[in-house]
Amino acid sequence: MQDAVTFDPRERQAAPETPPSAAHATPEANDAGTRREFNKLHKRLRRQVGNAIIDYGMIHEGDRVMVCLSGGKDSYTMLEILRSLQRNAPVDFSLVAVNLDQKQPGFPEHVLPEYLEGTGVEYHILERDTYSVVKEKTPEGKTTCALCSRLRRGSLYGFAEEIGATKIALGHHREDILETLFLNMFFGGSLKAMPPKLLSDDGRNLVIRPLAYCREADIAEFARQMAFPIIPCNLCGSQPNLQRQVVKEMLAEWEAKHPGRLESMFKAVTNVAPSQLADRELFDFAGLEEKQAKMQARRIDIQQEL
Ligand code: SF4
Repeated sequence: MQDAVTFDPRERQAAPETPPSAAHATPEANDAGTRREFNKLHKRLRRQVGNAIIDYGMIHEGDRVMVCLSGGKDSYTMLEILRSLQRNAPVDFSLVAVNLDQKQPGFPEHVLPEYLEGTGVEYHILERDTYSVVKEKTPEGKTTCALCSRLRRGSLYGFAEEIGATKIALGHHREDILETLFLNMFFGGSLKAMPPKLLSDDGRNLVIRPLAYCREADIAEFARQMAFPIIPCNLCGSQPNLQRQVVKEMLAEWEAKHPGRLESMFKAVTNVAPSQLADRELFDFAGLEEKQAKMQARRIDIQQEL
């Protein structure tokens, strides 16, 4: 069995803090006050990612973590924070960044290699023309995202095995998890979200989501300050997922009106009481009479002993 990672944020606080590379910081970040705020933000993201890694046992000694990089703010931030944690981590693990070039028209192929060269992280650009497949198979007017995501997942999972990656890291954050929870409730009739750690259906890949505890606004601000070379996500020409957009706006409105609500809802996802729900697979409702009889018998025994 592998040794469990001991990413203890308290240990890391004692270790020398490694700020993000100044090469990517904007001139604005050089202002002392802004710099202080930025360092606080960086520390918060490090702490939250470190805590998620500990809580879910995401990374172990010797792991080779494949960091999926789309060119969006979330995946750049994930890579940067994992690199930062890696420098002080008491366990040895390696990172390999992978971008899937889906051959969307206008995809700026040079951006990610140029960025990754500057980081020194091992990386691969995987070229798969899923764009043409999606266009060919999806009827006009229908949303392309479901098939596109399936093909992307298949390509990345297969490639992870090819390069010997032991974990696949995806850049979903707290709001992604909550949006998925509500989408599944509103449209799927199920109470499920996106887990911080997941074994693929065929048992071949372990997926981790190190940003699970991170707020999207923090990630957006970090990405802005770091001036990551963001690649727009609308190159495929697909309509954004309207249902997800509606849920996103609903959550943002709740948070604006009732600050802390998202935090409370996320806590709820980690604090489930199966006996207070109605899933017969999760809780043995039919066995309550038997349980009651056992409890009563035990109470009678205790009373007789007194
Ligand atoms: S928005 Fe475009 S690239 Fe993203 S999942 Fe949908 S079809 Fe694929």
